[in-house]
Amino acid sequence: MTEYSHSTEMGIRCAADIIRSSQRGVVLTGAGVSTPSGIPDFRSTNSGIWEQFDPFEVASLSAFRYNPVRFYEWMRTLATGIHQAGPNPAHYGLAQLEQAGYIQTLITQNIDRLHHRAGSKNVLEVHGSMGTLTCTRCYHTVGSQGYLEAYLEHNVIPHCPECNSILKPDLVLMGEQLPSRTWLKAQEACKKCDLMIVAGSSLEVLPVAGLPMRALENGAHLILLNHSTTYLDVRADVVLHEDVAEIIPQIVAELKKS
Ligand SMILES: [Zn+2]
Repeated sequence: MTEYSHSTEMGIRCAADIIRSSQRGVVLTGAGVSTPSGIPDFRSTNSGIWEQFDPFEVASLSAFRYNPVRFYEWMRTLATGIHQAGPNPAHYGLAQLEQAGYIQTLITQNIDRLHHRAGSKNVLEVHGSMGTLTCTRCYHTVGSQGYLEAYLEHNVIPHCPECNSILKPDLVLMGEQLPSRTWLKAQEACKKCDLMIVAGSSLEVLPVAGLPMRALENGAHLILLNHSTTYLDVRADVVLHEDVAEIIPQIVAELKKS
């Protein structure tokens, strides 16, 4: 177990106190929650999955329409990582906070479904999800199970069971709009919350990075759990620059002490 400094221990206690006194908690998670599960951050240029590809040449909607085969080639690394990954202690800790009634809504930038698999219920996937595929012609939607395995194992590009056009995974590509109903719900939750916990996000990708600002404007407390600094560190009640897979279970354990 990691030995924490005095200030980190204070931060854990302080975070637990704030969570305990909140009524309407919202969590925002980013790639940092999934990297301990071995999933690369597909929006980060440092993640290694861009070494052979220019993002705008493959992972935009127009690129998908122009050359879906190349898009699927690019996606293979990401899909393989997600296929093999399981939830880590950060996912389980956040699910426990929801079950205990401390968190009402979990907003995630991640597309890997690991929050669902860990037991979180009210999840808003603002960057979409790899859990479903939608037809680019007739908009028929199917669950990705079976289709992604067929691609990964036998190179079969997913086709629509209704009209035989190519299916696109429902992750939000570069230049694509966020799913509008989900995004509206996320904004609403941030306006109404009295606590915002940011976990594993450096708050660099707009417009999602602006959500904690909305919470602050409405008087919510802010807890930031991330490896590196963010633009809102100066505004937060608690900032812990630690590994989320270690620090979140510590906070949950502290909450159970009371
Ligand atoms: Zn179709």
